[in-house]
Amino acid sequence: MEMNIETSRIPDPFPCQVWEPADMEEAMMIKRQYGANAAFVAGGTLLRTQWEGGIVSKHEHLIRLDTIADLRGIDESDQHIHIGALTRLRECGADMYIANHGATLYEACRHIAAPSIRNQATIGGNIASAVGDAIPALLVHNASLHWADIGSKVDLIQQDIVDWLDVVKSGRRSLDAILMGIVLEKQSTEHQQEITFFRKIGRREAFTPSLVTVAFRAMVDPLGHFSQVRIAAGGGSGIAMRLSRCEQLLEGNRYHAEMITSIALLASEDFVTYSDPFASEQYRQQTAGNLLAAGLWESIHSQIERR
Ligand SMILES: Cc1cc2nc3c(=O)[nH]c(=O)nc-3n(C[C@H](O)[C@H](O)[C@H](O)COP(=O)(O)OP(=O)(O)OC[C@H]3O[C@@H](n4cnc5c(N)ncnc54)[C@H](O)[C@@H]3O)c2cc1C
Repeated sequence: MEMNIETSRIPDPFPCQVWEPADMEEAMMIKRQYGANAAFVAGGTLLRTQWEGGIVSKHEHLIRLDTIADLRGIDESDQHIHIGALTRLRECGADMYIANHGATLYEACRHIAAPSIRNQATIGGNIASAVGDAIPALLVHNASLHWADIGSKVDLIQQDIVDWLDVVKSGRRSLDAILMGIVLEKQSTEHQQEITFFRKIGRREAFTPSLVTVAFRAMVDPLGHFSQVRIAAGGGSGIAMRLSRCEQLLEGNRYHAEMITSIALLASEDFVTYSDPFASEQYRQQTAGNLLAAGLWESIHSQIERR
């Protein structure tokens, strides 16, 4: 175990101990020892913003995760894509495996923050924050998360992202656990066409956290019937969710123009979100409905034009 204590002649405005664990067990032991005074650091982009904004107090112990081997990179097997938690958003938004098998995640990663942030920020940090814009995209791809947690021994846990979000909402999340990676299932698109989109609204055009995000994924057969419909909404500091009534509206049915107004209405009724000084709950709900309706309309019409 190596420990760097920052030293300087100028008084350090942010005195802290930076730990460089060699493996996950060591990292989790340090976290358990210092509890709320310690934080895992991946890219540090969100933590820095939270410290600067006074949202969380500056941690006395920072535990680097980039010193642990095998947490970074994107691999493909016959049925899955595995993304290491320490993989940068820039890499995820440029990877052809993710583009082919996780198209909304690919889009999301290209629209989070600005290029300079995406060079540093990791997909794991985005998910572990529980409010990252990658989460709605992962929900529509039925992604699962691989965690390491520590009790009397190290446990490796695989969990669907939707189940993990339930644990987060219930306040039972383990704060000592490390996200190791994300797994996307490859799906056959034989005889069907995949429709996907990711839409995000922020307070400014770029470089700002989102107010609302929506993600959509479905298959359409040659007769125009939808199947495997997955729709999710999130954004801001709200916990993302699947919009199951919107999914049911489309599942097994053929596209018709009235679906656009119905889906906008259902999404605004079902999306559980919040108000803050920047946007009311009602504004976020209505925006989610409009984003979804516009995305569906554009996707269907560009599909019709391609035929
Ligand atoms: C200007 C600016 C704009 C931004 N815009 C957006 C935006 O549009 N959308 C968006 O979603 N985010 C945005 N962010 C927030 C942030 O950049 C991203 O969420 C980023 O992906 C976080 O990754 P990171 O590696 O920097 O996480 P860090 O800051 O290192 O960590 C974030 C949190 O996750 C924990 N953590 C990190 N990795 C792990 C792990 N492997 N296991 C367990 N816990 C872990 C940390 O302890 C910390 O609590 C923005 C940030 C800035 C500064």
